[in-house]
Amino acid sequence: QRTTREWQQADSAHFLHPFTDHAPLAAKGARIIERADNIYIWDSEGHKILDAMSGLWCVNVGYGQTALVEAAAAQMKQLPFYNAFFQTATPPAIELAERLAQVTPPQFQHVFFTCSGSEGNDTVVRMVRHYWASLGQPERQVIIGRNNGYHGSTMAGASLGGMSAMHAQGGLPIPGITHIEQPYWWAHGRPKGLSKDEFGLVAAGWLEAKILEVGPDKVAAFIGEPVQGAGGVIVPPKTYWPEIQRICDKYGILLVSDEVICGFGRTGQWFGCETMGSRPDLMTFAKGVTSGYVPLGGVMVSDKVAKVLIEQGGEFEHGFTYSGHPVAAAVALANIGLIQEQGLVERVREDVGPYLAEQFESLRDHPLIGDVDTCGLMGAMLLVKDKTTGEAFPSELSVGMVCRGHCFGNGLIMRAVGDRMIIAPPLVMTRAQVDELMALIRRCLDLTLVDVAN
Ligand code: PLP
Repeated sequence: QRTTREWQQADSAHFLHPFTDHAPLAAKGARIIERADNIYIWDSEGHKILDAMSGLWCVNVGYGQTALVEAAAAQMKQLPFYNAFFQTATPPAIELAERLAQVTPPQFQHVFFTCSGSEGNDTVVRMVRHYWASLGQPERQVIIGRNNGYHGSTMAGASLGGMSAMHAQGGLPIPGITHIEQPYWWAHGRPKGLSKDEFGLVAAGWLEAKILEVGPDKVAAFIGEPVQGAGGVIVPPKTYWPEIQRICDKYGILLVSDEVICGFGRTGQWFGCETMGSRPDLMTFAKGVTSGYVPLGGVMVSDKVAKVLIEQGGEFEHGFTYSGHPVAAAVALANIGLIQEQGLVERVREDVGPYLAEQFESLRDHPLIGDVDTCGLMGAMLLVKDKTTGEAFPSELSVGMVCRGHCFGNGLIMRAVGDRMIIAPPLVMTRAQVDELMALIRRCLDLTLVDVAN
């Protein structure tokens, strides 16, 4: 067994981390995570840490679920791999396709499997263009995404997303992808004279304006996360998605819901589109489908789209070696079974989600908190310099990173997105664990307040 220092040295000698500036990492050394159980992880120094991010928004059923481990081991012994290219299929992949058709909204009876959320969104770009071409409308190429949306790191996924720093590296977006503003009330200066619901309608109207600018007969689809996750848990006003749906219907544009974070119970329904009130034509998923125990993703395809692809599309020149990987499918089946047996979606909706919302509301009395938002078991707190005026901290202070540092030091993983501190804990979390989380959050906010006051 190596020491922490030895792990850190080997890490900085060989491991290029995603989304990481390596010079500061090498100076500090990575935190080495060695084991986990329920909602806790342990580092190589023996520190117990409450994982309020479910790994990376994915460990929905919590750590240490032996049913998933046993499903993987049994499938590996039976048949570790076979592909779906040679007019072949494996029982777990077929059974998972069937089960996904049951737990997703009724318009979905077909699935295309990928290995990740990014690949799912890449697949969407090719699939919607192929759909329109099959209908004799190949000029419908343009896909509209949103600024500050996140749809993955592949060339098309990062292009659909609206992260300017990602676009700056690699010359993105790729052709035929354009963006509208996000429905984030604070970022738009809390427009005076507009209620949040009125703002939701205005923000949805930006889609219509973009469609008219591009030309309705050139637009293939609109894509969005029901609640933007990596953008900072931006919960849209409740008027937003129904109005987006109305606009897509009006112009006959396909609606794509990126459910990579919101899917599998996170928002208190199986899928975020059900919480937000839209009826997507395509839905991408990953993360929570296996609770992150093994990689798996995919695209749910509605009957309307599937009919055209199957009857008029011919061969779709697209797919991955691991599309429908039998071990990943077996783990997903065990995971979905667990979510159903333990009633986790209902617990989020009726019990622990509302309790978390209540506790987050109570944080409004803290001097640093300008706003809070929750949706099911995801939440965000906005740190502000002056809560009466809403004035932000100077960006060079990186107040979010200061707070995140205190979290790390006090046994809590929270993520900082600019000045927003965000959480998405495992869905198995209990009320007592919410209390434990809130005590840690308050301690970290108090320590941050001392730092920013000095
Ligand atoms: N879409 C959303 C909404 C995500 O949050 C993510 C990852 O965080 C992705 C897509 C990309 O998924 P993956 O990292 O599995 O490629």
